[in-house]
Amino acid sequence: MSKPIKTAITPTREADYPEWYQQVVKASDLAERSPVRGCMVIKPWGYALWENIQALLNKKFRATGVKNAYFPLFIPLSFMEKEAAHVEGFAKECAVVTHHRLEPNADKTGLVPAGALSEPLVIRPTSETIIGDSFSKWVTSYRDLPLLINQWANVVRWEMRTRIFLRTSEFLWQEGHTAHADSKEALERTTRMLDIYADLAENYLAVPVLRGRKSDSEKFPGAVETLCIEAMMQDRKALQMGTSHFLGQNFAKASGIKFQSVLEKEEFAWTTSWGVSTRLIGGLIMAHGDDDGIILPPRIASSHVVLLPIFRKPEEQAPVMDYINQLAQALQAQSYHGIPIQVEIDTRDIGGTRNWEWIKKGIPLRLEIGPRDMAADSVFMARRDKQPHEKTSLKRSDFLTQITSILDEMQEALLEKARKNLSDHTKEIDDPKAFYDFFTPEDTEKPEIHGGFAQCHWCGSASCEAKIKEDLSVTIRCIPFDNPPENGQCIGCGQDSKERVVFAKAY
Ligand SMILES: [Zn+2]
Repeated sequence: MSKPIKTAITPTREADYPEWYQQVVKASDLAERSPVRGCMVIKPWGYALWENIQALLNKKFRATGVKNAYFPLFIPLSFMEKEAAHVEGFAKECAVVTHHRLEPNADKTGLVPAGALSEPLVIRPTSETIIGDSFSKWVTSYRDLPLLINQWANVVRWEMRTRIFLRTSEFLWQEGHTAHADSKEALERTTRMLDIYADLAENYLAVPVLRGRKSDSEKFPGAVETLCIEAMMQDRKALQMGTSHFLGQNFAKASGIKFQSVLEKEEFAWTTSWGVSTRLIGGLIMAHGDDDGIILPPRIASSHVVLLPIFRKPEEQAPVMDYINQLAQALQAQSYHGIPIQVEIDTRDIGGTRNWEWIKKGIPLRLEIGPRDMAADSVFMARRDKQPHEKTSLKRSDFLTQITSILDEMQEALLEKARKNLSDHTKEIDDPKAFYDFFTPEDTEKPEIHGGFAQCHWCGSASCEAKIKEDLSVTIRCIPFDNPPENGQCIGCGQDSKERVVFAKAY
């Protein structure tokens, strides 16, 4: 009988996927729970990932003319009320500030809020209304358009059930807001920013995505159209990784964003908004993690290589460290897709734990270097996407010339694996019974594991969509751009349909 393989994470994905996720986050040193319910502390290893995402997006946004700015955390309640659908959509998640001072309580044992505000302030769940107020002052003529602004910020949405990175009451994000003279240009901007998100997901995070639009009931509150990218996690559930909204003139009318047109007519602007959040990190964990921890795709990794010196006698230490420091310098002098190779050196004398910590943290390459490797002028390399014990001895010079292609190979392998997961668990389904079976877990002990993405015909009716949601907790994730027009019968009611949409359970 073969012994079960011991894994660094308990439970395994197979045994209990949701619990595996919590344990992986903990073991990987990315983030931890905070004393404030539903909030998280992002640790340096996790924050470095966010900074890499920021750097990448800033570069891509700037290339399309977008500039960064910053707007207040507080939004007057009256601003939120200006757009009816918007306030209705966010009302249940709003955190509200009503006081501005603390005073001793009656028996002097503690403090109580005093100094009620004349108007309550909402802590931004999103910033359309407060940014719209600024835009209304900045835009007077067609010459002021397009106005292309992004802000990096935290937002608060009071969530009842939270999961670190995926759904937290406070999270970090970027929100882009643009104003245009006509709808065509605003629609083009909406698609263009979605394409940037798709590029980030696929080419950097190595997560393949479906690009499409949302059904009316899944739209952003107040939007005319919401475009999205949707990815499949290893448990076959969908994760919305980014959205881009065409807001029409709804918010321009609510905030008074008006301009004099070329024909000297007063017109309302057409606006867009688009965002991605720290949720992307949750997606990265769930798309690539294994039973030993997370696996960081090299193009977004917090760091690329860790050098682990090995010496058994004290006199070996100095020469090994010299060799390692020189190697680190040679690596840092090289660039990987325009970024200097990031190197960690871990000199802690803690035995095998050291190697396993780096496995759990998902660093792409681990190099063990001892006196024997030094004598042979070589390195002993392990790749995080391979088995933990699979190691290769390479000449130092070969390693230095090959490292960027090794990292690219790993990046490609992760994307391929995720693509396979997506295609293996996406099915075209036309029979209603097969549809219900697809989303019914085979194993009642593992309610999380079901079919995946179902490409089905849908008549377009919201009540039909609601019934499926009610029955199966399955929603329309997107109406993919790539689906060709095709006549068929709605999976819910049998009425005529002109295209397939993607149904799935979602985070
Ligand atoms: Zn229907």
